[in-house]
Amino acid sequence: MHHYSKRSNFTWNRTLKELGNYSCSERVRASMAAPGSSSGLEVLLSTLQNAGDIESTLNILNVLDELLSAGTDRRITYMISKGGSEALLSALVTTARTFSPNFTILLPLLHLLAKVGHRDRRIGMKAEKAEAVLPTLTLLKQNVKHTRRTAACLWVLQVFCSSVTTATLLGQNRGLDVIFRLIPPHTTRHKRTVKAAIDALAALLCSKANVRAAVAKGYVSALLKLYEDWHNKDPDHETIPIRLALLHCLHQTTHCSAGRVALVAQGGISLLYHTTQTCLASNGLEYLVEYAVQLMRKCYPKCPLPLTSDQSVYTFPLPGRPADTAPGPQDVSFEDDSDDDIENEEADCGKEYDDDLESDVNKLRSRPEPDRPLEQLGQYVRLCPELHHDFQDLDSDSEVDSSSDEEGLLNEDFRTDGRSRVNLRDSPSHSPLEHPVSTVEGDQDGKGEPPENHLQACDFHSHFLSSSSVKQNSHPSMVDRLLEKHGACIPHHDPRMYTAAAALTKSIPEYSILAFPDFWGHLPPQSKEPMAGRKPNVQRKKVFEDIQRLLNPEDVIDEVVFDLEDPWILSQGSPDHSDSLSFFSKFECGNLRKAIHVRSHEYDLILNADANCSQHHQWFYFEVSGMAANVPYRFNIINCEKANSQFNYGMQPVLYSVREALEGRPNWVRTGTEVCYYRNSFCPSRGQKSSSFYTLTFTVTFKHNEDVCYLAYHYPYTYSALQSHLQVLQRSVDPRKLFFRQQSLCNTLAGNPCPLVTITACPSSKSWKDLHQLRNRPCVVLTARVHPGESNASWVMKGTLEFLCSSDPVAETLREAYIFKIIPMLNPDGVINGTHRCSLNGEDLNRQWMKPDPVLSPTIYHAKGFLYYLNSIGRTPLVFCDYHGHSRKKNVFLYGCSVKETVWQSGSAVNTATLKEDPGYRTIPKTLDRIAPAFSFNSCNYLVEKSREATARVVVWREMGVLRSYTMESTYNGCDQGVFKGMQTGTGELEEMGVKFCQSLLSLRRNTMLYNRRVISQPTLLNLDDNLLDHKSRNCFEDDEPPCVEEIEYLNDSFPEPNRNDLDSEVNGNTSSAEEEEDDEEEHQTTGNSRRRSMKSRLYPHLIGQETLNIKRSPCNGMNISNGQYLS
Ligand SMILES: [Zn+2]
Repeated sequence: MHHYSKRSNFTWNRTLKELGNYSCSERVRASMAAPGSSSGLEVLLSTLQNAGDIESTLNILNVLDELLSAGTDRRITYMISKGGSEALLSALVTTARTFSPNFTILLPLLHLLAKVGHRDRRIGMKAEKAEAVLPTLTLLKQNVKHTRRTAACLWVLQVFCSSVTTATLLGQNRGLDVIFRLIPPHTTRHKRTVKAAIDALAALLCSKANVRAAVAKGYVSALLKLYEDWHNKDPDHETIPIRLALLHCLHQTTHCSAGRVALVAQGGISLLYHTTQTCLASNGLEYLVEYAVQLMRKCYPKCPLPLTSDQSVYTFPLPGRPADTAPGPQDVSFEDDSDDDIENEEADCGKEYDDDLESDVNKLRSRPEPDRPLEQLGQYVRLCPELHHDFQDLDSDSEVDSSSDEEGLLNEDFRTDGRSRVNLRDSPSHSPLEHPVSTVEGDQDGKGEPPENHLQACDFHSHFLSSSSVKQNSHPSMVDRLLEKHGACIPHHDPRMYTAAAALTKSIPEYSILAFPDFWGHLPPQSKEPMAGRKPNVQRKKVFEDIQRLLNPEDVIDEVVFDLEDPWILSQGSPDHSDSLSFFSKFECGNLRKAIHVRSHEYDLILNADANCSQHHQWFYFEVSGMAANVPYRFNIINCEKANSQFNYGMQPVLYSVREALEGRPNWVRTGTEVCYYRNSFCPSRGQKSSSFYTLTFTVTFKHNEDVCYLAYHYPYTYSALQSHLQVLQRSVDPRKLFFRQQSLCNTLAGNPCPLVTITACPSSKSWKDLHQLRNRPCVVLTARVHPGESNASWVMKGTLEFLCSSDPVAETLREAYIFKIIPMLNPDGVINGTHRCSLNGEDLNRQWMKPDPVLSPTIYHAKGFLYYLNSIGRTPLVFCDYHGHSRKKNVFLYGCSVKETVWQSGSAVNTATLKEDPGYRTIPKTLDRIAPAFSFNSCNYLVEKSREATARVVVWREMGVLRSYTMESTYNGCDQGVFKGMQTGTGELEEMGVKFCQSLLSLRRNTMLYNRRVISQPTLLNLDDNLLDHKSRNCFEDDEPPCVEEIEYLNDSFPEPNRNDLDSEVNGNTSSAEEEEDDEEEHQTTGNSRRRSMKSRLYPHLIGQETLNIKRSPCNGMNISNGQYLS
């Protein structure tokens, strides 16, 4: 029959023709020709059910089998649609019911049924309806001594179990026992039948009732013993399919929690672990190892995080709410009888958002009523000082008196509560007097480094990094000495100013320590940093290490070495464990909650949840000290929440070494080997046990002994850094040329001012004409860092701000063309308190724009109010862009808003050709694609999703009517295109992106703007012609990521569906190859096989020989051919 499949133009009609000519009884031929019969196939099937003689039935079965073995599954599907399954079932029932069932017919019938049923999703239901299920089980019971019959029955039962109720029915009728008894310990005989039995058992275990029964009968233990036996006696790995099938059964039995418990209790983890280790060295055992690992991970006992509560350590009393009620899932049932761990895949990834697209054109087009009375907008007049400034001092030589502005600068005490931050911070244990520098001078490694390079975190905190020290006149010299000696010279950064800014920053925990990198400043490293290569099976290696904790509990130290909630550990600065690293995170943006020393060089780290919340752990920033050089330390952040991470795709965390900084390399650098991210066995301490966490693991080998280092998710950028940066910028500009004004948009919940910066060019004179030109410049509104964990957005914004304040000719041109209104940090409280996503109200501020609460989301409320105000005075922004970071994609890209593209993508019936829309929203992305190497035009889209209707981008577009309203997403990782391809992004590239965004604004003003002569000399920027830019706009929708090299999701059903062809070949083996079944008891075999052979020999020559002839001949019996099917 294998010849058939090689013949390309083999069709139904030809075979039927052969059948008609050579095989069929007169009766069949008669009915095929009968008027009114709809198709030849139906005739065959109906004959099969009614055939009286063995010969006809066998012929039909053989023809069907040969037909179905050739070509694709389309024929079988067609046969199923024509009632093929029912016909076979009916024939089975008829034959099986006879007193002594005739296996000459039954065997081929069962084989065919297995093949067809395997492709018929409803075969189980059909079998039940035809009452074929229990007769098949009875056939099995009666023929367990005949291996070929047994195998045939088992395959059919296996396919019947595609219906859970059928599987349950079989279980209720002793099916489990009957089948289980057919699985022997290791043997070299009847392997096909053994495999069939194991496969059938696995199929029966699709029913929960059967799984429970199997666990109660002790099958888990028995299956483990069987697996062990087959493993041990198979050193040459000759029975891999059987071992795999046994693992499949174990997977099935562990779908219920009792099964998982039984597997662990019976030593299953240890058995699987050790058997797997012996397989690692052999080639070709990947599947086996992979399924064993999955099984171990699935059964590994769930362990609640060692926390007193899932709630953040940081709580903030919200106005109008009782202090102890915080949002988030609380006190959910402990019960874990859910039987399976259904994952909530992230809903917003990739292509799945078609349903989410707004398809209602009217809604897309309509402009909602303002959310507040217009009278309230008067308060925002103050935020447009450039419109009311008279620039009287332009003609004189005096400096612009910046203090005339009502908002104070950083050094002025613009807070009215008068609370002294300094006193609160000055903890006695950190008094500099108690820890003179000399205590750390013991030079034990004998390398003769300067003593101040011998660092200990606690001394460091007290001497240099206490934000209170500046205000204390007794010890300013520490900072001064450090700066004098090492002379930090980072552009736009001043450590003293940073310390001063930090002293004013209000945090929930009232930070008194500065993190050194923020204080000292950061420069991008000299060399580019390529993405990290991923070693093969690194995740498996880590999982094995995790499993060893369970197997070798004596290795586990399990000692808490840092705990944000433990005042004793905190006050010591470092715990009294000389052989342990020390951790610290009680500083701005820090969010390590707990560190546990697990094994000698391994630490579990738990992140603090967002303030007033029990979720959103992803961002991290902490200090680590007390290390030995050149020793690999493994860090596991064990409560990450996202289902996947760029850490699986070449991204590394960042590290800052104080020692390196003092030696002249103040750089955050990408670091870590064996970086990977995978689901672990931890669950919330009190919440749902079925929900799970992910581990980010990485290994760091520190360069110096006793260094103080900082590790973070991404380059930190604190609120205090922003405040000092703005101050440095303000000082850097020439106030006669550049109008720079920092004001407070409003105060945050915690009382921190939210800066709003105005940047534009001063008029060239105070003449009416020049003032008029200034006041008619279009507005560009830029915002960033609404999501605190997206520190990349702040670095992009830093680039934007510095560029706009620079003397670059393009910047000058831009300032003359536009008024920039910039809110660089929309969520200061979140940033300060180290949250990842939310503000202090436990909510995502970028979902509040539709109706922001003036009390709980003041920065959004007033940012929106300010935009309303601009609208109300006829100054609707030309461009709005909110800078973000994207955790799952590479490159930098924009999301915009387009009615046309949204309606078109949503599959709406509206004819988009008739929709009129200004295509101007594409100008900036097109320009960026040309001028910004990190930018990827193909990752951009302009779709309005329902789930995003309360974001800044959509609200500003719809409610304010801003055509060019964007979210700019910058990767945390790096680029997969352009000149940065394969490189991880650094702060330099992020800042450059902020520059490029500004430069792209030139393309909007090409025709109306007076070009600065120096700009004209820059050809790249001059040729920003839209028509020229419209290149490579292939497809805007890109997959997030290709699948990870290693599966990161281990769902319960991860065992692959048995390949259809596998079952086919098994079945075929049962029919044709007598050689393997050397002791076959099948009495009819010879007859059956010879009959088959004779049949084939009769069929082949004609089919082959008359191939050409058949095509030219007129259809036989008056039937026409159409697409390989018979039509009457
Ligand atoms: Zn974001």
